[in-house]
Amino acid sequence: MPAEVAEVSDELPDFGANDVMGLKWKNILDAYSCTECGRCTAQCPANITGKALSPRGIMMSIRDRANEIGENLDKGTQDRETYKDGKSLFDYISREEIHACTTCNACVEACPVLINPLQPILKLRRYEILTESAGPSDWLPMFNSIENQGAAWAMNIDREQWMKEV
Ligand code: SF4
Ligand code: SF4
Repeated sequence: MPAEVAEVSDELPDFGANDVMGLKWKNILDAYSCTECGRCTAQCPANITGKALSPRGIMMSIRDRANEIGENLDKGTQDRETYKDGKSLFDYISREEIHACTTCNACVEACPVLINPLQPILKLRRYEILTESAGPSDWLPMFNSIENQGAAWAMNIDREQWMKEV
């Protein structure tokens, strides 16, 4: 019996998300549940040190973009499955903002209504790095080190050696 050959699609998959359609329903519900209290931004180390990032702002941008798409869909000129208006979440959230996130999770822990602003930030960043092959050029050495050495620092060490010593 001939071995089954898996079908290989010519189309590359999208990783992460560049618009609200790529986010989970929970992320969009989060955006509409945000009370705009600002506790997340008050705890964000990126914001505290003067970076452009505001987790509260991220949630409000997602809500604004979802509103825009909803209004266009209501006009009946666009279909939900094939929606395209030449814009994306990157028109609302700057690259500078998503690069500034340290993924510390402080915003998630600070939110009184259990919103997770970190998740959409990571999805946007994943889209930029994996789907667009873009991102800050000074991150490239780190990616190369992870690929070649299995560690963020360019040190050719056996990372599992410590286990043998325990
Ligand atoms: S995870 Fe990112 S957005 Fe959230 S507090 Fe930390 S640096 Fe700020
Ligand atoms: S802490 Fe939560 S509710 Fe308050 S602004 Fe941030 S995401 Fe919105």
